[in-house]
Amino acid sequence: MSTSSITDCAIQSGNEINISNTISISKSLTSLDNDLFRASNENKKSLDIDNLNNNLSSLEHVRESLANLSKLANIRVVKSLARSHSLSQVKTALTMYQCGKYISLKNGKYIVLNRCHKRLCYICNQIKGKQYSLIATKALSQMRYDLADECSSDTPSNKQMIGIKLTLNTGTACTLEHLRDRISILHRCFARLLRLTAIKDDLIGSIRATEITQSNDDDDNTLANPHIHSLLLLRKDCDLNSITSTLNRYWPKAIKKQIARLRLQDSNYSSVAAFQQCEQLYIQSTDDAHSWLTYMTKGGYDLERDSHSIAYHKTSSNFWQAVDTAIKGMRLIASSGELKDAIALVKANLQKSELDTQLHSHVWSSSQSRYVTAEQYNPSNENIAFISSSLSYADNNQHIGYIFRDELTQHHGELMSTELDHIGSTLLNTQSYSLFEQKEYLFINKHKIAEHYAEPDEVERESLVIKRKQRIANEQN
Ligand SMILES: [Zn+2]
Repeated sequence: MSTSSITDCAIQSGNEINISNTISISKSLTSLDNDLFRASNENKKSLDIDNLNNNLSSLEHVRESLANLSKLANIRVVKSLARSHSLSQVKTALTMYQCGKYISLKNGKYIVLNRCHKRLCYICNQIKGKQYSLIATKALSQMRYDLADECSSDTPSNKQMIGIKLTLNTGTACTLEHLRDRISILHRCFARLLRLTAIKDDLIGSIRATEITQSNDDDDNTLANPHIHSLLLLRKDCDLNSITSTLNRYWPKAIKKQIARLRLQDSNYSSVAAFQQCEQLYIQSTDDAHSWLTYMTKGGYDLERDSHSIAYHKTSSNFWQAVDTAIKGMRLIASSGELKDAIALVKANLQKSELDTQLHSHVWSSSQSRYVTAEQYNPSNENIAFISSSLSYADNNQHIGYIFRDELTQHHGELMSTELDHIGSTLLNTQSYSLFEQKEYLFINKHKIAEHYAEPDEVERESLVIKRKQRIANEQN
């Protein structure tokens, strides 16, 4: 699989995609991911890291329609956090708003140049999730065991493994105040599940990913649904029926006990449906494991699915504020056993991508709610106070001044750099240096933000001292 065929796939699909045409998006993305994954899975057991590095950096490329969808999803969370009474959430919102402002079009795909790396950012989570699933898939090829349906005929059965897909929750949805406790319970009970006598001797490794989705009760109060998707790797010769029934008995009981201990239950609480899914991979192959890993790490909402997209656009500000608070310091993706070691090995061999050095070709336009080309983009036509003007008077937000000041500074910066670019090209063409005099405020501003503004003075003074000493010495001679 060459890079060009990855690109072809994206270009072919690029034109036909729109928000309502999610089936073709899904299909082309699945084929793209599978191609990427197949490329990474060549040369089993030899760690072909160059190939993986190429694949990982191509995941940072996003198709145009997806880029627009992702930025709109990012903005939904930005507006939610901007309404918070916590200054740190407001600051997070402002940083997150800059994420994906500039992108670069290359070979029919877009690369996000300025990522925010915030935990609730849809743009960053999509990229991170896909990267993680590719790394975890690569890690499968570095283990001492082989997946049962793709190992060679002479592999002894005690060197074969099977993958189990698990989806677990904490019972009926919880109120936002209980969300952090519910996530802790989820993680604690999962760690205990891995240590159960019935499973621990047959468990080779595992990976879990926590997602939080919103639901609403009959009175339209916002509730949260924390849940775990997991891949368990077990020895092929284990007693799977016995393990499944043990897990099925253990999980709802363990969850209910913890909820009761922390007095989190209300009259409607039930943990009956907490053990949501437990089934083998359809085919015990790296291919199938990769599909599940990709699903696991999608981060709650996959906007390419209609139902997820509708649900995402119904999420409320208090939901995102609560999730941001609840997941502080929590590890949402974790691995264990031999899979953990293999993932660490793959990660240790990765190179850091150097995307930030690229020039942008497209810019997010707040007034048009879509990406426009760098030539079309004119900061003077943009909504200067996009976030502050999205706040409702009813919110009585004490940070509105802070937000507005930040937006104004960003806007001035943009105007300034656009003007500088313009002068640069005019100077190159006309060499009319009188422009420098007319626009000197631009350069004074540049000088102010230089880090070592005191240095020229110091150097000068020192050289004057040396010169004076030399002159005195010369005079004396
Ligand atoms: Zn981001």
